[in-house]
Amino acid sequence: MGRLDGKVAIVTGAASGIGLAAAERFTDEGATVVMVDRGEDEVRRAAGGRERRDPVRADITSSADLQALRDHVAAIHGQADILFANAGIAAFQKFGEVSEDVFDRIIAINLKGTFFTVQTLLPVLRDGASVILTSSISASRSLPAFGVYSATKAAIRSMARSITVDLKDRRIRANALSPGIIETPIGVNAGQTVEENHSFFDDTKRVTPLGRNGQADDVAAAALYLASDDSAFVAGAELLVDGGFVQV
Ligand code: NAD
Repeated sequence: MGRLDGKVAIVTGAASGIGLAAAERFTDEGATVVMVDRGEDEVRRAAGGRERRDPVRADITSSADLQALRDHVAAIHGQADILFANAGIAAFQKFGEVSEDVFDRIIAINLKGTFFTVQTLLPVLRDGASVILTSSISASRSLPAFGVYSATKAAIRSMARSITVDLKDRRIRANALSPGIIETPIGVNAGQTVEENHSFFDDTKRVTPLGRNGQADDVAAAALYLASDDSAFVAGAELLVDGGFVQV
């Protein structure tokens, strides 16, 4: 018997990294997963035509896309038990060099996009649903050239509190999931060269108490906990999955 048998989960950023690993864990545990990402081909490829995986193309910065996603969930699945609002991007710019374009883009995706993903999907979330928001260790600790990104992640951590308070009457609980350094394509997607990416990962490994960087599945395992009834009394909290990076 799976820990999510019969449940419907919506996962954004599901074509890669943490979102993809979570979609796999959730389906392995019996859920039907609506896999959302901005690239049609990418999200279809990630779903791989496997049963209980429903790929949907949506850009979380588009209100039209989010509304179409909500209508799709209503028509095909009725309601959802789990929303993992995970899509996000990184960017590396030092404080004095941050351009307005990059600032607007990170805010639009990580902050505004995450906020309106949850707000738009509220009508299709079941009472008592679990909302998981991907924050980051950078909400708690400064990393070089990560200022705008960190600000969005601190806002997301805060959002887990306010969603839980505002949706109290529907018993919807929101929690922030804060990964540490996880080996996904996010850095290369943000413009790091492969060499810079390897050297970044080598440096972070050395300063992580557990002596390694995380893998996407480390975070997916924690997402499964927050998605399942095992965390039924956990609300408004932050769960760090960082090998001790900001804990010690
Ligand atoms: P990733 O690049 O592998 O995956 C992110 C996914 O989000 C991609 O598939 C991308 O297409 C999608 N996405 C981006 N913008 C989107 C948009 N506008 N609409 C829909 N989908 C969009 O990265 P990842 O490391 O798996 O990151 C997932 C989340 O984890 C992000 O929110 C990221 O900030 C957070 N995070 C990652 C790390 C890490 O070290 N990898 C650490 C802390 C937090």
